[in-house]
Amino acid sequence: MTAKPPVDAQAATRLVRQLAGYLGAPRAETRAPYAARAFHRAFEAMAPRGPVACRAGCNYCCHQVVSARAAEIFLLARAIAALPEDRRQALTGRIRAAAAATAGMAVAERHRRNLPCPVLEDGRCALYAERPLACRAFASTDAEACARAFAHEPVAIPVPRAAMELRGVLTRAGEAAARIAGLPDGQYELIAALAIALDDPEAERKWLAGADVLAAADARRLVAGTVSPR
Ligand code: SF4
Repeated sequence: MTAKPPVDAQAATRLVRQLAGYLGAPRAETRAPYAARAFHRAFEAMAPRGPVACRAGCNYCCHQVVSARAAEIFLLARAIAALPEDRRQALTGRIRAAAAATAGMAVAERHRRNLPCPVLEDGRCALYAERPLACRAFASTDAEACARAFAHEPVAIPVPRAAMELRGVLTRAGEAAARIAGLPDGQYELIAALAIALDDPEAERKWLAGADVLAAADARRLVAGTVSPR
């Protein structure tokens, strides 16, 4: 028997059209945020519901290397810009420091050091409502396995397969929409890409004009190790 796809062809086509519409909308300031939020809403609407062990304050998976799409990066940069001044400065400082510390570091080494995502604030995601698809889709059915993996024991984290398959389909929809809108897009390493977006106030405008301003953070440039970014 052939396995049912996580998204039927019509729904996938509708999503590509919707995302491309947002990315090509007349008002430049809505393009990235509307497209990224629609991308996230699609996941939340279609994600399989099943028991997971993930709880607020549990952040083992926030010590992995994360990738995100361009619109998601600019959505996060906008969310950071809207924070109260003291939190904005603190978060921006942590992101810049983490980007400098991890530049050129092999992914396996980053995992070995259990480096936390700089977006963590008191153990929780400071930008939870706008977190990337990679963070939404990564769930575990066994917190003990997460703790053991964090302690570098050779254990596989049981991740619901359907959610990962849905992430794959949505990622391909996002790629197709960006192509239609004529925008450079890919999977960008979260910390390096955020640092670029925060350091250049014109980054989003340049991206909308067709420049691949996040190219230096392309996840394919990560120094290979024994593990891949999620
Ligand atoms: S963006 Fe938020 S949810 Fe994703 S890894 Fe960073 S702290 Fe965790």
